[in-house]
Order: sequence, then C-alpha cells, then structure tokens
Amino acid sequence: LFDDDPAPWELDAAAQQTLATVVLTTGPDNEYDYLIPDELLDARRPETLLEVGRRVRVPFGRGNRTEVGYCVAVGSKPAPGRKLKSIAGVLDKQSLLTPHMLRLTRWMADYYLCPWGQVLEAVVPAGVRGQAGTREVTLLSVPTRVAARVTTLDVTDKQRDVLQALANSPKPLTLKQLATRVGCTSAPINTLRKQGLIESRVERLDQGELEALVVTREAPKQLNDDQATVLREIYRELDAARHSTLLIHGVTGSGKTEVYIQAIEKVVSFGRQAIVLVPEISLTPQTVGRFRARFDHIAVLHSHLSDVERHRHWKKIAAGEVQVIVGARSGVFAPTPDLGLIVVDEEHETTFKQDSAPRYHAREVAQRRAADENVPLILGSATPALESWQRAAAGEYKLLSMPRRVNNWPMPAVRLVDLREDHNRRGALSRNLMQAMDAALRDGGQVILLLNRRGFSTHVQCPACGASAKCPECEISLTFHRQDAILLCHWCDHRQAPPQVCPDCGSTAIRYGGLGTQKLEAEVQARFPRTRVLRMDADTMRRPGSHETALDAFRNGEYRVLLGTQMIAKGLDFPNVTVVGVINADTALNWPDFRAGERTFHLVTQVAGRTGRGEKGGRVLVQTFDPEHPAIAAAARHDYDAFARVELPQREALGYPPYGSMIRFVCRGESEQQTAALAQQAVDQIQAAWGDDDPLRPGGPLKLRGPAPAPIAKLRGEFRYHVQAMHPDGDRLRAAVKAALAKLTPPEGLRWIVDVDPWEM
Ligand code: ADP
Ligand code: ZN
Ligand code: ZN
Repeated sequence: LFDDDPAPWELDAAAQQTLATVVLTTGPDNEYDYLIPDELLDARRPETLLEVGRRVRVPFGRGNRTEVGYCVAVGSKPAPGRKLKSIAGVLDKQSLLTPHMLRLTRWMADYYLCPWGQVLEAVVPAGVRGQAGTREVTLLSVPTRVAARVTTLDVTDKQRDVLQALANSPKPLTLKQLATRVGCTSAPINTLRKQGLIESRVERLDQGELEALVVTREAPKQLNDDQATVLREIYRELDAARHSTLLIHGVTGSGKTEVYIQAIEKVVSFGRQAIVLVPEISLTPQTVGRFRARFDHIAVLHSHLSDVERHRHWKKIAAGEVQVIVGARSGVFAPTPDLGLIVVDEEHETTFKQDSAPRYHAREVAQRRAADENVPLILGSATPALESWQRAAAGEYKLLSMPRRVNNWPMPAVRLVDLREDHNRRGALSRNLMQAMDAALRDGGQVILLLNRRGFSTHVQCPACGASAKCPECEISLTFHRQDAILLCHWCDHRQAPPQVCPDCGSTAIRYGGLGTQKLEAEVQARFPRTRVLRMDADTMRRPGSHETALDAFRNGEYRVLLGTQMIAKGLDFPNVTVVGVINADTALNWPDFRAGERTFHLVTQVAGRTGRGEKGGRVLVQTFDPEHPAIAAAARHDYDAFARVELPQREALGYPPYGSMIRFVCRGESEQQTAALAQQAVDQIQAAWGDDDPLRPGGPLKLRGPAPAPIAKLRGEFRYHVQAMHPDGDRLRAAVKAALAKLTPPEGLRWIVDVDPWEM
C-alpha cells in the first residue's frame, strides 16, 4: 500500500518540486509537505486523483505508522534539503472543501487558537467523511470491442453467457447481479476479468433518496412600510453584489422572517443559495414550515440528523441542488457552490457559540464567510448582542429598525413585581403572581413560569434594598461559599467576609439566593392542587425528542402550567398562554459574568415575546428585588436603546467586550493545588509573552484576571480554575496567549481549554 520510497534525488536548492501540503486531523498543529506518487496525479482516474480538499493517508512518525490528513495545497515548491515521504493514498473521491472553506477554516484556526486539522474535522460532518449511507460496489461491464464479437470469441459456453448478459444489460452490473442473471458462480466472471474481457470499476452508491415532502405553498405577504423599507435596503446590497452587514433590530413579531424570505427569493431567482442560521431551539416546525412553504428545495440541518441524512444533505448542497439551507450553528459550513446571502436570526443567542473545540461563534464565522464570498450578511434580533450593536454604532454594520409588531398587535405589558414589598417568606410565588395565575387558570388560560437557575447560584442579596454584593475590582457578583463562609469573586479571586448588615441600607435581613425548579414545582402544585404542572429542565429533558413531546402536550392543553429553566424562554409560540412569570430576574443578574445584565435583558424581553400573540392578549410578571436595575427596567419597557446606553459605557470603562478582546483560559484537574498552579503558570507566561506595557502604546495595559476558581468551581470531581486576558488589540492578545500556551507543560491528568471571545463563564 505504501509507496514510501521515492526515487533518490539530488539536492538542488533551485529545483522546484510538485508537493502536497497536508494538515493532520489529529496530532501536531503543523503543515507537512509530501511527495505525490505519479498515479495520484492521473486525471483519467478521478477517483484517486489528489486534489486540494481531499483526505489522504500519509506516513507519519516512526515505522509504518500512518495518519489521515487533509490536502490543503498542491503546488511547486523549492526542494527542501531533506528527503520527503510520499502520500500513501487518497481517501475521498471528491474534494470535501472549497477554496472558500479552506480559507475560512484557516482563519478560524488562527482566530480561535486551535489546530487547523481540528477545525477541518468540525466543518466536514462525520457522515460525509465516513460517506454514510453509501456502499462501495464493483461494477462490471464489457468493452465495446468485446461486445461486438461475443459470438466469435474463444471462450467457454458459460463465459459466453456471462459476456452476452453483460452486453445486453443497459447498465453495468455488480458481480452478484451478473452471477444471478446467468446462473453461474463467480469463477467464470473472475476469469474473464483477468483476461481483460470484462472491465470493472469501483463506485460509491447512494442507498436512498428523501421522499419529496408534500407542503402547501404560500404566497408572499404584502409587506408593511417598515418591512418594505428594510427589504429595499437588502435588495440594494444584493444588486450591488458586495459584502456588507445589515443589522435588523426588530421587535418580536415585527415580521423579520417574512423579510428574510423575500430577500432569499431574490437570491434564489439569481440561481444562488442562501444560508439561514437559527438557534437550535427555534428549529421548530413552525419556522421550518414557513421556509418549506416558500421554497422548493430546502435543507434543514439540525442536531438530531443521522450521519446518513447529514451526508445526503451535504451532497445535495454541494451539487447546488438546494436553494435554502436552514440550520443551527454548523449550518454556516454548508458547502454551497454559489452563495448569495447569509442570514443569522436571533443573532444574540448564546447557542451560536460552540462550547467545545473549535470554540467558534457562528455569527463571527458567518461574517468572515460572507466577506470572503462577497455576499451580504443579515443579522436579525429583537435584542441584538452588544457586540453587533456597537459595530452598528461604529458604522461597520448598517442598522435597520422594525420597531412595530405586524397587524398592530400591542407589545405585551410587563409588570415588575418588587420583591422587597411583595415577598413570600415561605415560597417563591409573590401574592401578585399567584393572583395573576389564579385569574388566568380560572379563565381557561395557561401559565408559563420561568426559573432561571444556573448551577448553584448562591449570591447574597439584601431583600430590603435589593443591593447585592459585588467585587470592588470587577463589578461582578460575589458568590457565597457555604463551606468556608466567604464571598468569592470568580474572576480575580477577591475574597471577603459576608456582610452582617447591608452596606447600602443597613438592613440585617441579608438573604442567600438559591431555589430549584423541583422546589418550585412542589410549591405550585401545593397552591393549585387540581392543576396539571409540567416541569422542563435539563433533568426532565434528557432523552432526544422529550422536548417536542412535552411542548406538544402543553400546546394541547394537557398541562395548564409549564415551568422550567431558560430552555422554555425562546422560540415558543403558545396562543393560549396568558400569564408568564419570571420567578427571579436577579438570578441571571447575579451570575458572576460581565454579561449578566445583557443576559437578564435578553431573558426578560424574550419571555415577554412569548405572550400576547393570541387574541386573549397576555401579561408578564417579573419578580425582582432590583426593579430599578437598568437591564430589568429597560426590558420591562421594551427599550433596548436605553439598556445599551447604560451598559455600553460601563463595558468601555472596564475594558470588557465589545471594547476589548477577551481570551479565557480554564484548566481542570483532580488536584486543586496543581490546577491552580497551572493557571498561575499561564498567567505568568501570558504576562511574559506580552512583555512590558509601554504607556504610550494604544489600548493601555494588558488586563489579566485570575487565576480564580471558575464559576463552576468543581465539576465531576475536577477542580476548575480560570484566567481572563483582555486587551483592545485582539491580534496582539492572541499572539501573546498562543506563545504562552506553547510554553506550558501540564502535569499528568491536567487539561486545559482556551476560549477566544468566551460567551459563558
Ligand atoms: P418576527 O420574525 O419578527 O418575529 P414574523 O416574521 O414571524 O416576525 O411575523 C410574525 C407574524 O406576522 C407571522 O405570523 C407572520 O406570518 C405575520 N406577518 C409577517 N409579515 C406580515 C405582513 N406583512 N402582513 C401580515 N402578516 C404578516
Ligand atoms: Zn440593603
Ligand atoms: Zn473581582
């Protein structure tokens, strides 16, 4: 198999050689050059032709070891001063990556500080690499020169029957088909193959095609003025055939999806393809159904696809047979041959950030891809990420507004329940919320209760004035650690004793937060004994599909109350829900993360968008100890601008994103001491790689926080310590971190991750 020994050659500095550059899928993060055996350059044999984007098997390391890698370049290079090894074989019959995809993945590797091979493996679905759903078969046929003289050939009768059967068959046959047809064993067939009277070739064949889906077609809607204005702007960019990013800030129900669809109709009329990225949770039949009703050829890429289905979609997309790809995060890698537009709906959603390596953010990758392929990018949200908002303010993105709901639906009324006044000492439900629930249930309506509980989340809050303990350095909520009875900053490791009296108002009734969904379920059940209550959280929703089943049951009215974590906050549309209650908006606010305010704003706004869609209208009640908090107050008024006006200057003052780039380093290990020591080593190395801070250099000094215990300080028996590095100059920051990590030598059993632009702490 291995042609390991190329012809010996003279070392000649000026000599040029045709070499293949290979990136290994696992192993060192490097590019390696290999010699290409002649037979892999034979254009008459496309199935073994070596070209960029195909995977190859290459000798690597000692002995006969081989590795799999992607061929990323084929071209002339000066001969190196040493003997090169040869490519052992080509694994794919076609290229898995377009030149655009190669550039995009190279950029991802540089930007997210991870090996290129790892990115390539993430971009090409496993089902494609394994060619799932296909089978390798040997197809037999007779050459025409043989077919013409079957009767006169000097062969046995059986052999003549074989040749005749093949000559009569309009299609090539497999060995089995041929043997059955003739009624013989494989012996005469194999003899004929050896004599060259039968030709054979190996092919991979598909095992099934998707049944055509029956959908009712839908006509375009007559756009209202806001929609028409936005669509005109998009058309202008499409006609100009250039890259630009449009940020559509449109309230829930303002008709953004209809605008996307009409923009895509234009793209499709040019014969090009569009990619629509949506958060996984909203890959609901409703959203998908609207796209199906308007386009003939769509591919829906969600996380429950089998390898076979994924492979089938991939091939159709690559062949240009799909007009619109609707997909979650990884849909951004759809191999469209002639991309015309990318849409990222709900662009602020955290699910666009992948939380395993490569830790990319689909919005950023989409941005990069759209720029590279010179097509417009549309970002849409009712509550844009501050990153996007700030870029629009800086003129990088064009901001388009859709401030009104279609059909003059009112925005749902959000009422803040001040827990300092209406606090139920024995439970989570305030008097106001219970009354609203009672009224809704008696009226035949349904209720959603959201308890945004993450991890332990035991923060310290004063119920009298709403103040919560914050780190003096980071403005991040301090977390209470019961064992040591201390307050800890999970960013910089600042520690202090819990206050006995509230520093703001002097109250002594300090409260330690923390309430679970199970406890809430018991309380609701006790209050409303004859009401069926459905709980949805990570514990009850383990099995795939349980999410859909549960939501269907709620939609059918089997349950009257739905309660759960933020997984119920998004993308759901229940006309019969007339009361939505947020049990404690402050839990999101008190999470030790600089995005806590933004998350809270998103949460309350998204939840509010879940009601008031039906004829009955709806009410949202948000329980909080801190109703004046800018994030909560602004969300209650549906006032994104007001929130951004308060939040952005604070971010800027502290150097947080979007003003500074951030890289997070987390290490994990069973020994707390070793884990902390490795994190400290990272801090030292990053500082060393950064060098001295020149006060005249723009951007100010490097900000290095930690090591500190991560917000989830211990997980499955492993301690977790983290470090944050921040600076406005992202390129320089990446270079320093990369150089520092190359110097780290983790002891046995310790692991680390690097997260560029981290989203969750
Ligand atoms: P968004 O994506 O901004 O939340 P949608 O596009 O889902 O809003 O629109 C909300 C609802 O209004 C949908 O049921 C949609 O069919 C309907 N709709 C959208 N545009 C129009 C329009 N121009 N006229 C009438 N109904 C519309
Ligand atoms: Zn107080
Ligand atoms: Zn701190």
